Amino acid sequence: MKKETKKRSWAEPYKIKMVELLKMTTVAQRKKAITDAGYNTFLLKSEDVYIDLLTDSGTSAMSDQQWAGLMLGDEAYAGSKNFYHLDDAVKKYYGYKYMIPTHQGRGAENILSKILIKDGDIIPGNMYFTTTRLHQELAGGTFVDVIIDEAHDSTNLHPFKGNIDITKVEKLIKKHGAKKIPYICVATTVNMAGGQPISMENLKSLRKLTQAHGIKIILDMTRVAENAFFIQERETGYAKKSIAAIVKEICSLTDGATMSAKKDALVNIGGFLAINDKDVYEEASNMVVVYEGLHTYGGLAGRDMEAMAIGIAESVSDEHMKARIGQVIYLGEKLKEAGIPIVEPIGGHGIFIDAKRFLPHLKQEQFPAQVLSAEIYIDSGVRTMERGIVSAGRNAKGENYHPELELVRLTIPRRVYTQAHMDVIVESIENVYNNRKKIKGLKMTYEPKYLRFFQARFKTI
Ligand SMILES: *Cc1c(COP(=O)(O)O)cnc(C)c1O
Repeated sequence: MKKETKKRSWAEPYKIKMVELLKMTTVAQRKKAITDAGYNTFLLKSEDVYIDLLTDSGTSAMSDQQWAGLMLGDEAYAGSKNFYHLDDAVKKYYGYKYMIPTHQGRGAENILSKILIKDGDIIPGNMYFTTTRLHQELAGGTFVDVIIDEAHDSTNLHPFKGNIDITKVEKLIKKHGAKKIPYICVATTVNMAGGQPISMENLKSLRKLTQAHGIKIILDMTRVAENAFFIQERETGYAKKSIAAIVKEICSLTDGATMSAKKDALVNIGGFLAINDKDVYEEASNMVVVYEGLHTYGGLAGRDMEAMAIGIAESVSDEHMKARIGQVIYLGEKLKEAGIPIVEPIGGHGIFIDAKRFLPHLKQEQFPAQVLSAEIYIDSGVRTMERGIVSAGRNAKGENYHPELELVRLTIPRRVYTQAHMDVIVESIENVYNNRKKIKGLKMTYEPKYLRFFQARFKTI
């Protein structure tokens, strides 16, 4: 084949067959809506939102093949044929021996943590994820962050900010002994660091170390195909390998995985636990009956498993991933051109605006990211979310954590919005930026005890 030399954009490898109409609102309507919602975008009605960037979880658009798959649902209680399709897809694309479906990612985390973790165990991981860490702790374990230091700095341009600091792991093994570490939890990509990838080289070094000590590696494979894209783009020796081949290589360096299929796998609900060890599989198939459902449906309808099996195949396509991350990078580059301060390098599933640099006249106690998220909504109906002092919550003594990063997250659902939507987002944020000096801080008027960012309410000062 003749080599392509001309520049080609990332345009979508699909066309649109059905559309969902959106309600257009006025500034006055949005001001009322956000005031009623206590300046918290989580409390807005989705009906009042124009472009919804709250999360990429369960919000992707399914293909016609996936929708057709729903009609092929075999809703038998046991042994549904859709289960076998899903099992085949997990074997074919990820290479794991055994798979148990779960209602979503945290269902798999619950079962795996209960089986592998004993009281007093240490679970190292490349930055925490909320539900993953909580299940490890509920099972009696302690999570220890072993991500490289660069991940905590929003301006550091390290190409693999999801990497694990191997020396940190060695120190943990020395300190606690390998017997206290049942597994290392490796996330691809690292959500809380802004969708940052881990390199294959790093994973190989970790494999070498853990194998020498008999420690398992469990993959949080929620966005493994997005991680594979960055390896293909940035890591020596991978430019000519397909995303599918890279995904399979990543999985081959691990012993099992938990999956939230609501992200990479392009479904609205679903997940699974995958494992190579037969004993762990047998215990998990016992336990899933208690928490999720029989091991051949795990809390899902047959049709959900069919859509997931098809979504997995679509998710590892090079064309799909080029457009998916291409769109995120398009948005990020445009924001950068407009002078908007964002976290770099641009990650796989969204853009994170640095609210401290956007609103330098506000103190962190005045909730800069919270108010910025509300102002963007008022300007254009674009819904984003706070990832700063509100999300960080309070410590055991009741004092506010003061996280280094005070961010507004713009998470991009897969295959849902167009380039024109991205342009409107940029125009809106640019407009808010030009009027930033007029933005006043907030004060909290209601604070729930747990995970306060979901339900807290605010007023302008
Ligand atoms: C979403 C997510 C989970 C949890 O999955 P759910 O399907 O929401 O239960 C675990 N890890 C990461 C990295 C995630 O993004």
